[in-house]
Amino acid sequence: ETSLVWLRDDLRLDDNPALAEAAGLGLPMTVLYILDEESEGIRPLGGAARWWLHHSLAALAADLESKGSRLVLRRGKSDAIVRKLAGQTKAGHIFWNRRYSQPERTIDAGLKDWAGENGIHASSFQANLLFEPWTIRTGAGGPYKVYSPFWRACMASADIRDPLDAPAALPEPAASGPGVPTSDTLASWKLLPTSPDWSTGLAETWEPGEKGAADRLADFLDGPVEDYGTGRNIPGTEGTSRLSPHLRFGEVSPFRVWREIRRRHPGKIPADVGIFRSELGWREFNWHLLYHNPDLATRNFRPAFDNFQWGRVSRSELAAWQQGKTGYPLVDAGMRQLWQTGWMHNRVRMAAASFLVKNLLTDWRIGEEWFWDTLVDADAANNPANWQWVAGSGADASPYYRIFNPVTQSKKFDADGSYLRAFIPELQGLEGKQIHEPWTAGADGYPAPLVDLAESRERALDAYQKLKDE
Ligand code: FAD
Repeated sequence: ETSLVWLRDDLRLDDNPALAEAAGLGLPMTVLYILDEESEGIRPLGGAARWWLHHSLAALAADLESKGSRLVLRRGKSDAIVRKLAGQTKAGHIFWNRRYSQPERTIDAGLKDWAGENGIHASSFQANLLFEPWTIRTGAGGPYKVYSPFWRACMASADIRDPLDAPAALPEPAASGPGVPTSDTLASWKLLPTSPDWSTGLAETWEPGEKGAADRLADFLDGPVEDYGTGRNIPGTEGTSRLSPHLRFGEVSPFRVWREIRRRHPGKIPADVGIFRSELGWREFNWHLLYHNPDLATRNFRPAFDNFQWGRVSRSELAAWQQGKTGYPLVDAGMRQLWQTGWMHNRVRMAAASFLVKNLLTDWRIGEEWFWDTLVDADAANNPANWQWVAGSGADASPYYRIFNPVTQSKKFDADGSYLRAFIPELQGLEGKQIHEPWTAGADGYPAPLVDLAESRERALDAYQKLKDE
């Protein structure tokens, strides 16, 4: 008899309950990762996430090997693969950590039934959310639609368990039957971009994998978090944790993050640290929303928005936004940061998204897809929930008529222009305030504004008024 651990969005050894439980059994163990792009409803990863996944799996495989185990890679329909491999390895136990998207849950539920019918023990664990979506309910028993009461209910609900340490050693790998291919090679999955290879900036910016995640967490909690309340709004500094891709792929557990905060602040949590924790709460909230609204990425959360008259954005306008050539420095710096590094500062995400949805009157789903393809932290819940927040169509959303002014935002949050200069070489030579309004100075090679801010704002407000009048 052997055990099988199926890893998914939990690419770590630390605080990995499924892995720890299997290791505790001491049976020969298969550790499996499946690249599933075939099962019904699964959203294929975008390009930047594929790049991340490649490196994260490479790091995970090395970590497993250093503890006496190994990672088996397979590609295809996950339920068929798990069934077959469980048979080939004579697995009596299957372990995994729970996922919360609808298509994934359907697969997992089907496998649990199949295991039960075949005398295999299948066990699942809570590992990637501090609060599982079905455990937090309003007084009336329904799901929450507003963040603050949701997070209050979370905080009041119970204690948050301590993270589990990584197993000191892992059981030997289970033998597969004769002639069974042991593992795909990572290279054969072709997750990395080749022609062109746009990943240089990503590689310079990130260290995917558990070690990179732990280093980020420690660096952040030992410094920037102390000033997070202000620092998180300044895109030109490293004022935020940049943990998002690590959390997305489960390279760090939210329970570990929580514990590390507590360890440093056993008493009262300082205000800035508290604000950081409440941002983690937004991640919990968005997953709560997705769990209760599986089509969050394709359907307006507020059905009233189904009648919204989006304009028809032209190809060239869309390309200008995607490539960071709108003529509005903050938007452009953000879109170029995204292209170069696979990440964008949250304040700039809001401004860039608002520009697309409101000033270019574009359906938020078009922006959501672009971010899905280009963000290393592209997240099935956080991405659509935040786009809907910006568009005004979401739960607890920013009201539609709140239209970010990219010039005001830039003057306020990047006063010295250091963020703009870092990503827009054409603006290097501009002095002082001119950098926020380059059209007043003339900057070589930098585009003129794509639309007039005041006019496009009026157009957006008119469209909203029409919706309200209906
Ligand atoms: P920190 O400020 O250090 O926050 C810590 C963690 O809290 C983050 O890593 C993240 O897990 C969570 N968090 C912070 N802000 C939010 C938020 N608004 N919503 C949900 N969780 C949050 N975040 C993603 O993880 N994936 C996405 O695909 C994504 N798409 C977005 C799209 C738009 C249009 C906008 C406006 C925001 C999006 N965000 C997304 C939320 C936010 O911008 C990122 O989580 C944040 O910038 C990540 O940087 P950080 O790790 O340094 O954040």
